[in-house]
Amino acid sequence: MADQTPVSAASLGLDLAYAPAPEATDHVRIREHYGLLIGGKWVEPASGKGFKTVNPATEVVLAEVAEAGEEDVDLAVKAARAAYDKVWSKTSGAQRAKYLFRIARILQERAREFAVLETIDGGKPIKESRDVDLPLAAAHFFYYAGWADKLDYAFPGRQPQPLGVAAQVIPWNFPLLMAAWKLAPALAAGNTVVLKPAETTPLTALLLGEVLEQAELPPGVVNILTGAGATGAALVAHPDVDKVAFTGSTEVGKAIQRTLAGSGKRLTLELGGKAANIVFDDAPIDQAVEGIVNGIYFNQGHVCCAGSRLLVQESIAEPLIAKLKRRMATLRVGDPLDKNTDVGAINSRQQLARIEELVASGEAEGAELYQPPCDLPARGFWFRPTVFTGVAQSYRIAQEEIFGPVLSVLTFRTPAEAVEKANNTPYGLSAGVWTDKGSRILDLANRLRAGVIWANTFNRFDPTSPFGGYKESGFGREGGLHGLTAYVDLS
Ligand code: NDP
Repeated sequence: MADQTPVSAASLGLDLAYAPAPEATDHVRIREHYGLLIGGKWVEPASGKGFKTVNPATEVVLAEVAEAGEEDVDLAVKAARAAYDKVWSKTSGAQRAKYLFRIARILQERAREFAVLETIDGGKPIKESRDVDLPLAAAHFFYYAGWADKLDYAFPGRQPQPLGVAAQVIPWNFPLLMAAWKLAPALAAGNTVVLKPAETTPLTALLLGEVLEQAELPPGVVNILTGAGATGAALVAHPDVDKVAFTGSTEVGKAIQRTLAGSGKRLTLELGGKAANIVFDDAPIDQAVEGIVNGIYFNQGHVCCAGSRLLVQESIAEPLIAKLKRRMATLRVGDPLDKNTDVGAINSRQQLARIEELVASGEAEGAELYQPPCDLPARGFWFRPTVFTGVAQSYRIAQEEIFGPVLSVLTFRTPAEAVEKANNTPYGLSAGVWTDKGSRILDLANRLRAGVIWANTFNRFDPTSPFGGYKESGFGREGGLHGLTAYVDLS
């Protein structure tokens, strides 16, 4: 019988390494300094303060950005209130739709510019900003543009009214996409907005400010305040804000909830997660491995719904983990602007330190670590794709959100055990189920306490589909008709 041993390219003297494929950057103009967008004008902050935003892949300073203080927050909220009273609440749904369609189309036209800027400022691979963040951001504006003149059909028999001024605080993992998730439904429903992007990723929100001008959105309908946590805290606490929408850590979400208690302001919170990705022995294993990789290494694991806990049925654990490790060894880690890169830079030094601390705790508690061999760039913030086996449910790496490219593997024997382990978390944002059996998918979907459950896939998003959590993952839904509900008064 012929020898079936696979022949490797290296043994034949072939070099099949990918050649560099850098995305062009000459169409992107980054200014040295950015002000605040208040009342349709770019202004210097009354605080007189600024901060620097850096490229996490190179540690090069990209720009200086204004840091809004309390006075700036007050001016922005006043501008949003005036735009609401005088213009936006009197603008018909069909007119609001026109602006939203314009914004969506301009985003499509300028997609390459946005994708490159997102990657430079945040560290995510260009193929993700280009193929995921940008198309989805435009799709959200298109989708909610469609609702703007149909609110009476969205809520039949009710009289939906806008809430007023919305304060929106967004994180650094999907900067433009989170801005789109928040702005599109708010504007479609007739609210005005003050948006605060995250400190480490302000640039695409600021470019979006230019797009809003290009779309001739009336001044003050959207105001953009860059700054750090204190800016966000001042914004959500402002007495003339009617609605707060926050995406970020559970800790800050809880603080915001305490601030707003008793104020009558409407609140939606989209917080952390520790999703279980559950693989049964009848699942298509190769497909599941792709889903596991996509679930945890997409966007360096900086994903609130990341499949960070792999629950695998004991009978297939060994072959599945072997395949997973082989697949991990093919992931290309490095320059986010290279079109072949799978895993880019960690968003900030601070986040890298958090990942390192949690990974060290996993090793100290007794889990077994595997990282594929790969060279990391000398500068910038990097972390190798990591998988932990031999993880007990009590370990910190099985309980806490790492928000990095780190997977913890646990095993189970029966569906009941899988559900029990999957639900053994303070979070409840998402989950994945891999099985050939449709009835099992439906049964698990009923028993898993998670807002989104993917079947035989993972990390799929669509503007028509609601997204949000249970328990410490927050409350309220974004996307779909549910996302519109958060911005209207139906009483
Ligand atoms: P934060 O929750 O601090 O950041 C989210 C946003 O809230 C940012 O715009 C931040 O501003 C702002 N913010 C910070 N403090 C306050 C406050 N007191 N009141 C109002 N707004 C505030 O997340 P971190 O960046 O600190 O990340 C820490 C951890 O949180 C991560 O390791 C990850 O586990 C989790 N996380 C989860 C996200 C999710 O989508 N579920 C997203 C981001 C983080 P600024 O950036 O300027 O500090």
